[in-house]
Amino acid sequence: MSLSIPRLALPSGGQIDQFGLGTWGMGEGRRTPGEESDVLRLGLDRGVRLIDTAEMYADGRAEAIVGEAIRGRREDAYIVSKVLPSNASRTGTIAACERSLGQLGTDHIDLYLLHWPGRHPLAETIAGFETLKAQGKISRWGVSNFDRDDMEALFAAGGTEVATNQVLYNLTRRGIEYDLLPWSEARGIPIMAYSPIEQGRLLGHRVLRKLADARGATPAQIALAFVLDRGAIAIPKAGSAEHLKDNLGALDIVLSDEEKVALDAAFPPPTRPTPLEML
Ligand code: NDP
Repeated sequence: MSLSIPRLALPSGGQIDQFGLGTWGMGEGRRTPGEESDVLRLGLDRGVRLIDTAEMYADGRAEAIVGEAIRGRREDAYIVSKVLPSNASRTGTIAACERSLGQLGTDHIDLYLLHWPGRHPLAETIAGFETLKAQGKISRWGVSNFDRDDMEALFAAGGTEVATNQVLYNLTRRGIEYDLLPWSEARGIPIMAYSPIEQGRLLGHRVLRKLADARGATPAQIALAFVLDRGAIAIPKAGSAEHLKDNLGALDIVLSDEEKVALDAAFPPPTRPTPLEML
């Protein structure tokens, strides 16, 4: 059965899939690189396109695992990678991207993000991104771990072309619903939710279990369905075929009003501004 992944509009035109695969922790020896690239390849076989990685993950080895997964089928994938803030000067951004392209074994990254705000002026990083775009080495750029005031600073520095902001968002981390999420929605900037199942920690929650059992689903599927329901892009990391298939099941779930009320009661939305959390 072919997968139906919803797509979201990007502010500068085009669309992005609302579901992808994370890679943090890959390349660190928990499993062999071959096993890890096999899981990503299985995801591509099932119709998932978006793969999220970063130069930081296992010092480039996660990018190399992604490179192995997309070898010979680059057109099946939509690659997201990230530059470290310490590298994000104008020339440093370009050099970091070129290293990442080498690890990934490709000539372009679809979406290139600044991993978190750092010491280099944003105008410098943006200039690096725009050069990379003009050279065809990236198609779009965005940011990660930017709170609302960081986004305002980005706009003030000329960064209105930002395609996404990748932030920590899941049932236990709902702070962005107070201001960052509405601010972004008002400008048509999709939020990409990282650690959407709180790195597995939220799966034992009693209410999540109860809701999952009641509809023959799993806690991971309900947690991911929540993120998708809020209009965010979910990028869970699965290191096994079993987890990958489980997570894909979230795409078939439409939460009922009663389920949403139960989730709000167990995981209350914010009632005041909350500084953006980061993992
Ligand atoms: P996730 O919330 O995606 O959780 C991943 C963990 O949950 C892994 O230990 C995985 O184990 C386990 N898991 C996955 N699926 C299931 C399942 N169905 N049932 C039970 N356990 C499961 O956490 P991540 O922190 O990995 O976030 C996702 C991605 O977001 C990252 O991989 C990375 O690409 C990105 N990210 C970005 C950050 C940023 O600063 N921009 C920060 C953190 C993450 P197993 O490996 O055994 O499958």
